[in-house]
Amino acid sequence: MQLAPGVWRIPTTPLDLVNTFAFLDDDGQVTLVDAGTKRAPQRIVDGLEHIGATPSDVTRIIVTHAHPDHVGGLSALRGRTPGRVAVHERDAPYVREGKGPVLDRSGLGGRLLRRSRGSLPTQVDEELSDGQLLDVAGGLRVLHTPGHTPGHVALLHEPSQVLVTGDCIWNMRARMTWPIAASCTDAKLGKQTAHVLGELDYQVAAFTHGPEIREGAREAVRGFLRRNAGEG
Ligand SMILES: [Zn+2]
Ligand SMILES: [Zn+2]
Repeated sequence: MQLAPGVWRIPTTPLDLVNTFAFLDDDGQVTLVDAGTKRAPQRIVDGLEHIGATPSDVTRIIVTHAHPDHVGGLSALRGRTPGRVAVHERDAPYVREGKGPVLDRSGLGGRLLRRSRGSLPTQVDEELSDGQLLDVAGGLRVLHTPGHTPGHVALLHEPSQVLVTGDCIWNMRARMTWPIAASCTDAKLGKQTAHVLGELDYQVAAFTHGPEIREGAREAVRGFLRRNAGEG
């Protein structure tokens, strides 16, 4: 599914429930964003073939955060490609140790620290920080949006004006929602930091969960944020 020149979405489950993204450089290098669940790598490889690329073209694998539906396939993908793994510095330890970030149980009277499921420990080659501009297909901006996990990032591809929201906002069943609070490290913080997404310029909003919004994306996201600020 092409989102813009050089930018593709690769669904790794039916119904667009979980997506990986591929950014294609002019010289044929591919950057992947997110590695999906354990079953995703074969679908990602099939998706690459569809856009005329091969696993050996993958030079970087960025993960938005360390949840198993985003890093479950990371270890296998790192084994099948030469891609270097890039994660925000605050989620990097979870990826290295194969542990899930702590979950927000504040809704259940006091915070019981419980961990989400992990995945296979995977080497992290590059730690990302907020505001960094990555040399990916003309420039991919890192937007640290903590809350869902401590090191969650959204990514803005400046040349094509495609925003990858990560799990800041979901877009399943044809409407935007917050991620389920029980899946977050700090759901309240996630709602606050999501406001960054309303202040950027972009044409297409691409969600890790759900189909993209191609028209009026910025206004739609801003509307969602305005209506749902401070909720919950
Ligand atoms: Zn998540
Ligand atoms: Zn997710």
